[in-house]
Amino acid sequence: MNHRALIIGGGLAGGAAAARLGRLGAASLLLERETAAHDKICGEFLSVEAERHLAALGFDTERLGGARIDTIRLHAGHRRAEARLPFVATGVTRRTLDAALLDHAAMLGAEVRRGVTVRQIAGGRAVTAEGSVDAGALLLATGKHELRGQGRDAAGVIDDLVGFKQFFRCTPALRRALAGVVAITIFDGGYAGLQCVENDRLNLCLLVSRDRLKAVGGAWPALFAALLKEPGLALLADAEALLARPLTIASVPYGFLARPDAGDPVWRLGDQAAVIPSFCGDGMAMALHSGRLAADMLAGGAAAADFQARLRGDVGRQVRLATRLQRFGTSRLGRFALVAGLGAVPAALAALARWTRVEPAALARAGA
Ligand SMILES: Cc1cc2nc3c(=O)[nH]c(=O)nc-3n(C[C@H](O)[C@H](O)[C@H](O)COP(=O)(O)OP(=O)(O)OC[C@H]3O[C@@H](n4cnc5c(N)ncnc54)[C@H](O)[C@@H]3O)c2cc1C
Repeated sequence: MNHRALIIGGGLAGGAAAARLGRLGAASLLLERETAAHDKICGEFLSVEAERHLAALGFDTERLGGARIDTIRLHAGHRRAEARLPFVATGVTRRTLDAALLDHAAMLGAEVRRGVTVRQIAGGRAVTAEGSVDAGALLLATGKHELRGQGRDAAGVIDDLVGFKQFFRCTPALRRALAGVVAITIFDGGYAGLQCVENDRLNLCLLVSRDRLKAVGGAWPALFAALLKEPGLALLADAEALLARPLTIASVPYGFLARPDAGDPVWRLGDQAAVIPSFCGDGMAMALHSGRLAADMLAGGAAAADFQARLRGDVGRQVRLATRLQRFGTSRLGRFALVAGLGAVPAALAALARWTRVEPAALARAGA
């Protein structure tokens, strides 16, 4: 019997769990299917809570050279609202961040094996192409989509959105227009986020309903051309796209929250445990929080169900509120009401940004 923890997935949840177990002197093996650092669909808005978790793991975010973000700008048609964020965030690519966290976890003693895909979990073992791996505890951190045999209850989730992400070269004019800003454009059938990241790049990440995508013919060039008519995105008209084609994702179960199950020995981390709507920019903090908490509770002898209950208590309210807001904000009436209301009362924008984040009390309990 192997007593070390097996972590499946080397995103931020898996990386945080491996790093924290290493700091606690506990052995872990992490399996990541990608062979090297890679781009991911993400707005790459790293919240202050996420940075606090990383700092508590001994990880220095500053050295990654991300862009500082202290202002949120909302656009809906010609309406626009802007407010100072109640914190300073960072724009940093997942290619850089996730790989650096895995290196950090390895430096702290975790064994990180890349290029290994877990096909399923059967009989408490992880099945890979090279055979099955057994473990003292199984931590599932594979992100948005299901691993075979580990389906999630999709009742009540929003899963009709398709995500796209493209990088653009950040010219001096674009830098001036977007310095310090995360710009959110709410459009018919979805929303887009635009911000600077490291190495003079702009990240455009958006979610669009399948219906709207179908209405423009189902392909990115037509969708992008339609979105350039939005005043909040028109500045990208002459921008140079840096990826040959955008990254895409579909069927993300927004609003999903794992329920504790005393009969289930698997520890569910990150997006496997809770999927918060992307506009909140706190999914990464939740993933890090879950990884850290799982490591602490595992080392303390807790059961998976106790961890799942505690995590649900820490993030459930934010996920439910953000999911209701996403439904309202992407309705025709909602998107104008939201921008008009928040434009009139900028403090409400800052309050919303606060309410949809991991609570300070939960962060403090986790030692971040
Ligand atoms: C469109 C969009 C925009 C977003 N924007 C933001 C944002 O701006 N800010 C923010 O904080 N959050 C954002 N999020 C949320 C954030 O990206 C996620 O919450 C976060 O990545 C979850 O981390 P994770 O570790 O659970 O999963 P992931 O980051 O998805 O990592 C999972 C890892 O598991 C690996 N893996 C998967 N299957 C297997 C397998 N079978 N075997 C081995 N390895 C496997 C994958 O390769 C991957 O590296 C956004 C999400 C979306 C969809």
